Amino acid sequence: MFTSLQGRTAIVTGGSKGIGRGIAEVFAAAGVNVLVTARNQDDIDTTVADLADHPAQVSGLRADVTDPADCRRVVETAVERHGGLDIVCANAGIFPSGRLEDLTPADIENVLAVNFKGTVFIVQAALAALTASGHGRVILTSSITGPITGYPGWSHYGASKAAQLGFLRTAAIELAPKKITMNAVLPGNIMTEGLVEMGQDYMDQMAAAVPAGCLGSVADIGNAALFFATDEAAYITGQSLVVDGGQILPESHQALSEL
Ligand code: NAP
Repeated sequence: MFTSLQGRTAIVTGGSKGIGRGIAEVFAAAGVNVLVTARNQDDIDTTVADLADHPAQVSGLRADVTDPADCRRVVETAVERHGGLDIVCANAGIFPSGRLEDLTPADIENVLAVNFKGTVFIVQAALAALTASGHGRVILTSSITGPITGYPGWSHYGASKAAQLGFLRTAAIELAPKKITMNAVLPGNIMTEGLVEMGQDYMDQMAAAVPAGCLGSVADIGNAALFFATDEAAYITGQSLVVDGGQILPESHQALSEL
């Protein structure tokens, strides 16, 4: 049994949709006050309304993680609303596809700006508040794509997700004396609103590549993030947890067809 996180406060960037919304919901269900951030106000409002019946305060703030001033405003708001900040889930991300021969400098900059720099900016903004909490937690949403696997069209995206882990390993050392841990969840193929829009055939095709035989849920990622946020995980830092139903394990198509 883990010690209750009731009354702690978390920021979830990109918490209005998909995996971020799943993380927000799991945290709110555990009694953690959550500040959800994203750029689209309507999506924020919908999520905040949908999560209102949990035993914690869930609120929203429109902010762009590519802007360090926005990130500072997010942290100030969390502290103002809840009296402190304990957990940062750096989850906001984009995944536009583009083959190597077609990628423009702007395409590359855009993906790195949100996925990599946005991660660094929100963590930097939160350092003082997380130090003050005495048990600060940073949880990054990276991916299997980049750190472990590759997929045509996502070379720049994969690089941005691997960059998060390079950042993590040194930042975790710097933050350890402040009792702040920093870890990453690496999702496989997770069922989000965006994936559902691609249709059942597409989802079936993706699920066929997973030994578990199904796509992951946003709660699967939320639960992994929640574990890193617990007091019992205080001695774990700089680590990555793959949550993918075994997707990265088969050494060939043949291995899957033997099931
Ligand atoms: P999603 O459904 O598209 O949600 C992305 C969230 O990030 C939204 O709330 C979006 O809101 C926000 N966001 C995007 N750009 C932002 C910015 N510049 N500033 C602030 N917020 C921003 O995506 P998802 O599939 O849940 O992905 C979430 C994370 O999981 C990403 O880091 C992604 O790389 C990672 N991931 C996803 C999967 C998967 O299977 N879904 C697998 C591996 C890793 P706004 O657009 O309103 O800003």
